[in-house]
Amino acid sequence: MIDFETPVLKEYPIIPLIQPGAMAHSKPYVARQDLQEKIGFPGELIDDWQDIAIKKMGELVSKSRALLVFLDSCVKCGACTDKCHYFLGTADPVNMPVARQDLFRDVYRRYYTFAGRNFPKLVGAREFDREMLDLWYSYFHQCSQCRRCSVYCPFGIDTAEISMAAREILDTIGVGQKYCNEIIGKAQTIGNNLGLPKPALKDTLEGLEEDIEDETGVKVRLPLDQKNADILLVTPSADFFAEPQVDGLIGYAKVFHAADLSWTLSSHASEAANFGMFIGSYENMQKISMRIRDAALELGVKRIVFGECGHAWRVAYSFMNTLAGPFDFLDQSYPVPQHICEVTHDLIQRNALTLDKSTNDDRVLTFHDSCNISRGSRMGNIPGGQFVIPREIIKATCNHFYDMADDTIKEATFCCGGGGGLLADDLIELRVKGALPRMEALKQVVENHSVTHMVAICAICKSQFSRVLPYYGLEMDQVISLHQLVGNAIVLGGSKQNSLSANSDVKT
Ligand code: SF4
Ligand code: SF4
Repeated sequence: MIDFETPVLKEYPIIPLIQPGAMAHSKPYVARQDLQEKIGFPGELIDDWQDIAIKKMGELVSKSRALLVFLDSCVKCGACTDKCHYFLGTADPVNMPVARQDLFRDVYRRYYTFAGRNFPKLVGAREFDREMLDLWYSYFHQCSQCRRCSVYCPFGIDTAEISMAAREILDTIGVGQKYCNEIIGKAQTIGNNLGLPKPALKDTLEGLEEDIEDETGVKVRLPLDQKNADILLVTPSADFFAEPQVDGLIGYAKVFHAADLSWTLSSHASEAANFGMFIGSYENMQKISMRIRDAALELGVKRIVFGECGHAWRVAYSFMNTLAGPFDFLDQSYPVPQHICEVTHDLIQRNALTLDKSTNDDRVLTFHDSCNISRGSRMGNIPGGQFVIPREIIKATCNHFYDMADDTIKEATFCCGGGGGLLADDLIELRVKGALPRMEALKQVVENHSVTHMVAICAICKSQFSRVLPYYGLEMDQVISLHQLVGNAIVLGGSKQNSLSANSDVKT
């Protein structure tokens, strides 16, 4: 693995002087033949890769009006140039969103515009040759598809969409990324990203039940494949074993227990994450989503609730109905699908949970808004609910909360640095450097308000921060799950569920 220097945290964010080629060496491992073929792509770079790539580009642009508009409408105003965490952390000018887009745009121009076909040099059109292919593989795997740049672009040009299209083209010609494609294969055949089979999952859940009983003296169940439960919980598989994710899962179980809600996990759909989105593959996204529909039908549930996972919530909220709907067999008086934060928030609003904030008094908290939740979805019934609901839950469960600087949270949140299918060890340099803007914002609240922990509601953010916090002189356990706070504060056996009607948590 390459040696690199961790960026120095500055008191105020500074736009770096450009260093051309600084990250040209950064590339994820290419997927093996078997991993590629398992999810429907050629096993290796095909002979006629240029022709097929150009043809695929034409197909994607003709299918997506948005992609066409994004390619045609950039006026090179420069407003996006300093908005990407990967540019701010690496100083590589190709990590400016407009430059990343131009890797795609220049090829599109060369083959799909009159001027590009006839006067390529005049309009900056470029061939899709081996050099360009290498640039694509490197720099489209330096975009976490966080969409922060699109917030600042006067035309709303979404680099994430361009990055997804580029990765789809790369997969189509046989150059997929190992980390994403291996995970997609496992999710489709075993049901979760880890490849955790049912017996192992069952053992894990039983172990967690014992842990909760040891800690609280209360039998809190984590049911698996329980037919006719009301709620199917679909959660990232990291919740089953990784820290701090598993503490979040314990928190969800305590909420369901305290509110007397009937729920189950599914061994068939034991994964909320959907890495099909990261590689822009509708077909693979659909296959993973269909497992959730199949599990819901098989178990006969009335509701589907998603656990803490950023991109999973975006896929669920924005695309699930198109991918695997209609979900007309579910109880339509609840949101379809629903986020665990919506469930918990509603119970808190209705005074249905007894919470002792003092259990979290040893912590001073801040909150990291996850990109896909902030800029790709919503929670609740009000615009901006995805910002309000998690903060209201945190404030209901602790006494000390401080937000980070305004231009680093909510719609302007900075990516953790590991999203978009980049949470791989082979990309650790990129991940550490890309975390810089978030680390600078965190450092400010640590110094100004003695913040001890950062709360997150995304499995990828939690894994990424656990790994990169030590590079910046912080402890890996300074990131925690939101439902860990809830789980700490909840007083089991003290719920006021009897004052609720059976169907009283969030309804549409
Ligand atoms: S989507 Fe995010 S990671 Fe990609 S270019 Fe824009 S700001 Fe950078
Ligand atoms: S902000 Fe939008 S229009 Fe301006 S350079 Fe960036 S992508 Fe192009």
